[in-house]
Amino acid sequence: MIIHLAREAGFCFGVERAIDMVQAARDEHAGRPIDILNEIVHNRHVIEDFQRQDVQSVHSVEDAREGIFVISAHGVSPEVIQQARKRGLDVLDVTCPLVTKIHRTAEKLVARGYEVLLLGDEGHDEVEGVMGVAPEHIHRIRLPEEAAALPEWPQVALVSQTTQGMAEFDRMVEALLVRFPHLEVHNTICHATEQRQEAIVELASVAEAVVVVGSANSANARRLRDIAAEMGRPAWLIEDALGLQEEWFHGRAVVGVSAGASTPDKLIRGVIARLEGWGGALQALPEQDLGRMRPDLATAPTHEV
Ligand code: SF4
Repeated sequence: MIIHLAREAGFCFGVERAIDMVQAARDEHAGRPIDILNEIVHNRHVIEDFQRQDVQSVHSVEDAREGIFVISAHGVSPEVIQQARKRGLDVLDVTCPLVTKIHRTAEKLVARGYEVLLLGDEGHDEVEGVMGVAPEHIHRIRLPEEAAALPEWPQVALVSQTTQGMAEFDRMVEALLVRFPHLEVHNTICHATEQRQEAIVELASVAEAVVVVGSANSANARRLRDIAAEMGRPAWLIEDALGLQEEWFHGRAVVGVSAGASTPDKLIRGVIARLEGWGGALQALPEQDLGRMRPDLATAPTHEV
């Protein structure tokens, strides 16, 4: 059985940055309590690693200990930051700059008199945070069918949660343009999401089955699994190697492995190792360097003579 790894899989820059910032705060302020609002990123292993270092997740400003209060990579509404400051907490904001950019975009559009539609998942931290910028004028939308029931607004714009599907975004634009021909479109799906979605399309076109490593509450990991499934491949979302079942791979010649943007490399390596234990062999896609996962499979650098 050949195992292929998606060309883009695992930590994106925003997740890496958020984890590094919390780690740096911990090193710098040893002994001071550090609490993170909700989940720093949607991955159980990352959260548990922090908990072992006494960096806890809390669900509200009130629950936080006196000390450093971390705003996660998904961002929050400005009101939450105000509440934390009012309580005298030191706010460490590790919101991904690409999420902050959506806050700024939405803010400017509302200031120019627009009603802003946000393509996003109900209850997701990032979506709640963006809507909190101007709750009266930012409206979540999920399905193109919802376009017909929207009020007659004179000026309408569309933005997106960073981890939505590119195809879903295009379908939404199409539906909204029927309703609002002057719709202002801001595709705010981030580059990391786009790259991972393109990579899973490539992977699922060569693999007979696909495994995505990531937590069930990770929007981007779920979407990767859904894209592979929509392409007709059996596709599973698993937290780590323990989630694999050997019978999934019986009779398969080629399987694909991908991972969400908040999945640490060690979990991806664990999944590959388990598949190898069942007779799989990791093989590079054309011109792919697997050195990050397996130094022995790194492409030798080419030197010009
Ligand atoms: S998925 Fe995109 S928006 Fe989210 S943290 Fe990563 S880079 Fe930032």
